[in-house]
Amino acid sequence: MKINVILAGPRGRMGSQAVEMILENKDQFNLAACIDRKNNGMQLKDIEGLPDLSIPIFEDPEECFQETEADVFIDLTIPETGYRNTKAAILHNIRPVVGTTGFTEEQIRDLSSICEEKQLGAIIAPNFAIGAVLMMKFSKMAAAYFPDVDIIEKHHDQKLDAPSGTAVKTAELMKETRDSKKQGHEDEQETLPGARGAEVDGMRIHSVRMPGLVAHQEVIFGGKGQTLTIKHDSINRDSFMEGIKFSVKQVMDLEKLVYGLENIL
Ligand code: NAP
Repeated sequence: MKINVILAGPRGRMGSQAVEMILENKDQFNLAACIDRKNNGMQLKDIEGLPDLSIPIFEDPEECFQETEADVFIDLTIPETGYRNTKAAILHNIRPVVGTTGFTEEQIRDLSSICEEKQLGAIIAPNFAIGAVLMMKFSKMAAAYFPDVDIIEKHHDQKLDAPSGTAVKTAELMKETRDSKKQGHEDEQETLPGARGAEVDGMRIHSVRMPGLVAHQEVIFGGKGQTLTIKHDSINRDSFMEGIKFSVKQVMDLEKLVYGLENIL
């Protein structure tokens, strides 16, 4: 049976590519409706650059979820809107697959507890690229041996949240294996605030924003007489689509919220 999908953010860089991915997999998925912040009552075919199809667009997520028969909801928008959309989808028993980054820990806990109550599957993944997931896994392994570690994440300059969800997730995973340590000299001082980056349990995260970039991260470990660098580059947004496709299928078999693609691979 085909999985009926609602997608929010169809005009965005990720959203428009996800629309293409859904249409390329017509044997498995059906795009039932889209949620957009404009174009209410129009159809995809009315929007320049989107496929020539009669798929309805809603501005109000509540109305969309009420009027559309759907199994899965994909959110590729911005954190505030994404959180509201995702909560509404769950309350309508529609399983979310969320690529939007920047949800707070509290928001994730909140969504997780509603899913648990309802025994409804959900996936929130700060990075849908398999290479990025492996980078995080390898970093977690290395952190057990190298407590000195800096993360440098680099993204395009239209990204709204910093540090990236992937960088935060990497730090969280490394915290599980790394001995807690404040890095650098104990007397070090920042003569320019922010020079040493953001701090997570003594680790440092640095965020670069540049036109021309997509999504890139280096995790640099240092030990006596050696350094180890684990690096991943998403060269284009195709890198995320396989993970979204996989998640839309997997979420149908889940009965709780899973945070991070590595937990379902
Ligand atoms: P984008 O090109 O800026 O697209 C964002 C979309 O959200 C646009 O359609 C935008 O509409 C819409 N939007 C903005 N504000 C809104 C609002 N208040 N209400 C409703 N819709 C709103 O961004 P993107 O590069 O596609 O990224 C989308 C999200 O995916 C971001 O959170 C990004 O960090 C995340 N991301 C995740 C992954 C992953 O693997 N998980 C990978 C890449 C990106 P307008 O054009 O009208 O503003």
